[in-house]
Amino acid sequence: MPKRFVNNYLRTILISTALLNGTQTLAHEYRVSIDDDLERLEVEARFDTKVTSVRARSQSADRYVHDIRDCETNDRLRTNGRRLQLPDDGIRCLRYEVDLLDAARDERRNSALVDSNVVVSPAAWFWRPPLRGDDEITVRFTNTDSINVSVPWLPVDGEPNTYRLTASPESARAPAVFGDFDYVERDIDGATLRITLLKPYGRLGRDSIVDWVVQTAGSINLAADRFPNPSPTVVVVPVGRSSWSDSPVPFGRVIRDGGETIELFINQDRPIGDFYDDWTATHEFSHLMLPYVRSRHRWVSEGFATYYQNVLLARAGQYTQQRAWQRLYEGFERGRGSRPEMSPNDAASKRRGTMKIYWSGAAIALMADVELRRRSNGEQTLDSVLRELASCCLPSERSWSGPELFETLDRYVDEPLFMPLYRRYANSPGFPDYRATFDELGVRVSNGRVALEDRGTGAALRKSITGVPAGR
Ligand SMILES: [Zn+2]
Repeated sequence: MPKRFVNNYLRTILISTALLNGTQTLAHEYRVSIDDDLERLEVEARFDTKVTSVRARSQSADRYVHDIRDCETNDRLRTNGRRLQLPDDGIRCLRYEVDLLDAARDERRNSALVDSNVVVSPAAWFWRPPLRGDDEITVRFTNTDSINVSVPWLPVDGEPNTYRLTASPESARAPAVFGDFDYVERDIDGATLRITLLKPYGRLGRDSIVDWVVQTAGSINLAADRFPNPSPTVVVVPVGRSSWSDSPVPFGRVIRDGGETIELFINQDRPIGDFYDDWTATHEFSHLMLPYVRSRHRWVSEGFATYYQNVLLARAGQYTQQRAWQRLYEGFERGRGSRPEMSPNDAASKRRGTMKIYWSGAAIALMADVELRRRSNGEQTLDSVLRELASCCLPSERSWSGPELFETLDRYVDEPLFMPLYRRYANSPGFPDYRATFDELGVRVSNGRVALEDRGTGAALRKSITGVPAGR
């Protein structure tokens, strides 16, 4: 069949399926302009069809929005909390203004930034209809000659300052940034990192921050081969010395909100060398090897990222072998002491016992990795299973449950392994007993100190996990 004919044929099937299901894929268009003083946004939305529901995600969004109108009739519209009050038959066109200055004052990310860099989450200013299935919104920023824009959405090829937003888990509120910040793109295997660097840089040079981000993100490929998201956004936010931590990266997170954003809060007054020794960024990038896991099974995503942060820092040569296993041991012991009366699912659901959540999941990740390597003589590993997951399902635009993820991982191995671990530990109080696994790896512990056997099958197995790969 000629290709064009096949395409038309397929399209007919797709369209008929959509009609049969009572769904139609919608494509809405937004134009956003920012004034030069970064005080105001003007937004105009043209909807694919009449929409009857438009809302913002933040509770406070209605305080910043002004002069909301149906642009076909010029009628004024009102808000009702986070919703717009719309006529019963809906609207096709919407126009409104946003007091950016006011919204920025309420945004904690701005606390240490220079005045010419403004962060305001789209949650506070982006009023939109719900997105179902493959619905999408294209957002074009105009008058961006003097103002840079960074948003969590995917850039549209060949159309500058234009982005595409699709359905996503909305796990937190991604940042949108306006002003004279630096934006750079860097390629690593499998991805173009889109890096937004907010000012001030303190004692750090721009290039040294970029190098650190690139090298840390690249270390994921020591497990993944190819970076699991082809176009992630990285936003580096200077916050100075934080009151809760004197680490160079006091806080980081991954936000799944119209694309995947890795947000790194840094102390710009620390020397760059200290950043390579900090685990936060490695932990955050490791999260991208899994999809977003619902919060009641959060120990799965936090546990895997915690396991990999130590494994990858060892493979990259940043941690000595001794240090990596000592840290794993100390973490497991902190986990064991945290909320022993709760199961991992309990702790995650009730948001209690951070150490329990992070380290019980890490212990289960280690057990799975060792079991896989032993069973398959090193043919299969946690890395290889996650690579299969990535080629099937990542980046994912929806939320996964823990069991759904574990069932999927079991499809890539000869005999189920992940669901049996889930059934054994997810709803059991106490802490996974990792001692037999340590024995198997030649990791001995006495008086709180880890000693590594240098020879034997255990040492070989252990080195296959944390050893620096040949050629590095
Ligand atoms: Zn995490």
